[in-house]
Parts: sequence; C-alpha cells; structure tokens
Amino acid sequence: MGMFERDTDIYRDRDALREDYQPEQLVGRDEELDTYQTTLQPVINGEQPNNVFLYGKTGVGKTAATRYLLDHLQSDAAEYDDIDLSVVMLNCDGLTSSYQIATRLVNEFRDDTDQISTTGYPRAAVYDMLWNELDTNGGTILIVLDEVDHIEDDSILYQLPRARANGNLETAKTGIIGISNDFSFREDLSPKVRSSLCEEEIHFPAYDATELQQILQQRADVAFHESVLEEGVIRLCAAYGAKDAGDARQSLDLLMKAGDIARDDSAEHVIDEHVRQGRTSLERGRIREGIGGLTQHGHLVLYAVLTLDQQGKTPVRSRDVRPRYTSMAERAGINPLVTRRMRDHLSELIMLGILDVTERNEGRRGGTYREYSVSMDPELIISAMADTVELVGIHESIEKLLERESTSTLQDYQ
Ligand code: ADP
Ligand code: MG
Repeated sequence: MGMFERDTDIYRDRDALREDYQPEQLVGRDEELDTYQTTLQPVINGEQPNNVFLYGKTGVGKTAATRYLLDHLQSDAAEYDDIDLSVVMLNCDGLTSSYQIATRLVNEFRDDTDQISTTGYPRAAVYDMLWNELDTNGGTILIVLDEVDHIEDDSILYQLPRARANGNLETAKTGIIGISNDFSFREDLSPKVRSSLCEEEIHFPAYDATELQQILQQRADVAFHESVLEEGVIRLCAAYGAKDAGDARQSLDLLMKAGDIARDDSAEHVIDEHVRQGRTSLERGRIREGIGGLTQHGHLVLYAVLTLDQQGKTPVRSRDVRPRYTSMAERAGINPLVTRRMRDHLSELIMLGILDVTERNEGRRGGTYREYSVSMDPELIISAMADTVELVGIHESIEKLLERESTSTLQDYQ
C-alpha cells in the first residue's frame, strides 16, 4: 500500500460542491430567469440587444444564472443561420480601471501572438482598437462584465453601451451585461452612465432557508454517496446559510467543510456535529482573512484594544484606547491617526465582527458613548496580525498567551 490511499467512502464527486460547478438546472429562480430570458430575446430575433444590469448580494446565483442562460442562448442561436453570436465574459475583480477593461477586451478578440500590453497606450487609442476589433468580429456581441463594481472610473461603462449610438461601431451589435454585488454601485453611477448601462435591471434577492435547502440537496445528490448525509445535515447548513446572508456559496462551502471533516475523521456519515465544527473552522478562516485585509493602523487599533482586554480593562471607551494606540504606533515608527480616523478603524473592526460595541448613556447630561470589547479568540487575532505584533513588540499582557505558541518568533515589547 502506498502512502496515499484513495478515500471515496464519503464523496462520489466532491467537485460538485465547488463554486465553479455548473448545475444543469437552477432551482428557485424561475421568476428572475424569466425576466432575464426576456431581456435576451432580441438576440435571437436578430435585433440590437438590451444592456442589462444584474444586482444582488454575493452567492445569490447571478453568475450561475448568466452562464446558464448564455449557454442556452448560444446553442439556440446556432440554429439560426443569420445569427452570429459571440459572448465574452470578463470578471472585473482585479481590473480597476476602464483602461484595463478595454485592453482585456481587445485581447479577447485577438490572437495570442497579437496581444497588446496593458499599459502604455493613450486611452482613446485603446478604445479605437476595441471598436475596430468589435466591428471586425461583427454580428451580435454580448459582453458580460461580472463584478463590475470593481471598476473605479465609469468611462468604459458609458462608452461601451453607447458605442453604436455614438457612431463608433457600424457592423457589430453589442449588448452589455453588468453584474454587481453592490447595489450602491448603481446609485453612484452618473445619470448618463446609469441610463445607458441599466436599460434593464434584474434584482436577485437573497435565498431563504427553504431555497438553500433545495440548492444544497441538488448538489449533495451528485457530490455524496447515497445515505452518507445524516438526516438534518442539509437543513442545518441551509439554516446557517439563511441566517448569515442567504448566500448559496457560503452554504455549499459549509456542506463541503462538513464532508471534509467527516472524511478526516474516517466517519461513515456526515452528521450535525461535523457541520458545527465546519462552521467554526470557516468562521476562523473568515476572521483571519478579515484581519489580514486590514491596514497597519487597523492592526494597531486592534492590538491596542486586545491588550486592554487582556488586562481586564474592557469594555473600553475610544478615549481610553487612544493612549495605548498612540504609544504602539510610535513603537512601530508610524504617525498615529487623529482621533476621528482612529474611531473609523474601531467601527471597521466592529463590522468585521472582531470587536463588540455597546452604546451607553451619559445619564442626565444626555449624550451617548460607545464601549468596545474583543469578540474573537485573542490567540487567533494575534496570529492573524503577527507582523504588526512583531513590529510593535510583545505587550506584557499577551506574553502568557504566546508562551503556548512555542514556535513564536516574536520580539519582546521592551
Ligand atoms: P453570485 O454570482 O451571485 O455571487 P454564484 O452564481 O456564483 O453567485 O452562485 C454561488 C454558488 O451557488 C455557485 O456554485 C452556484 O452554482 C450556486 N447557486 C446559486 N444559485 C443557485 C441556484 N438557484 N440553483 C443552483 N445552484 C445555485
Ligand atoms: Mg458572481
């Protein structure tokens, strides 16, 4: 027997729980899919496509619905000789400017040997190349800009939907499908961009527990061997999912985590306890990620509150966090922020669920103030911002915590 042995007792096809798995049918989205299909109908009629704006929180099926309908649209369009349909799907995560989007689009239409570099051209030149590529390609072109809220300037969101009206395109009929996780993105668009990009709008609401249960069941049937899931496991994952954000992705992740834990335990069944453990473990991962994504000042503010907490001084007011924060910033060789900005960091830490806050009343004099405390495992926090702790030095209040971490390489706080 080798070192690695295949274990297939739990999963039949684990990949079916992954985000990129495309289910054959979408469950519980009939109304949205109907609307979406209607907005795409002009493509089959050979007419100028509508621009569509899709919005809703993460994990509510926006990307899945788009892939699903565009797959159908492409195969149905192939039945008509007079329709020449091209689809380009671009995820804008990591592409922050209109310029980057435009160069990416140009390259989508070009051979590997003929790609343009993503810097160095005047923007107008890149747009000209884009119109040229689109017209050369011709036919109907649907351009999906997924996670479009990452684009920071709206030039391309104005130019692209209006390219034909502005006389930049002659032969190609383009339609833009913009997808956003963030509704405020739409509100922040200038009126002229909004009216061209958002001709049609489709909202994807969050899923409730029943819908999540159906989505999970559909995937579980493919992913797990028969009778591996104990009764109640799917219901529990769906209940947690509905409580968190109505996010199908998060629920699927939880089910997979529970399955992985069962597999590691060499269990025959996935049980509720595996789901609970999975949830704790995913939550830790999210916190770690949240802390990892903070700025240095965010870390310093958190470190300050954490040490006050370890000294039994929480809940603590921001004015009492301030001296600790200031001295830590100085140790790190960083200029401390003004009080108001420091408070913004406290608020961010609350939003991330790392700190807790209580509103208090001043009593008769009126006025309220906030008190902060730590709501996460302190060891987890320290390990997630080890760089900052190292830079500032180890505060005496956390020494005991660190003794347990024998591999610690952190320097003492002198
Ligand atoms: P969004 O783009 O809104 O963030 P996704 O479309 O990526 O969300 O969906 C997240 C995951 O949930 C994907 O794996 C997707 O297949 C699945 N999913 C979402 N909605 C449904 C649905 N109605 N039926 C089946 N699977 C779904
Ligand atoms: Mg998506």
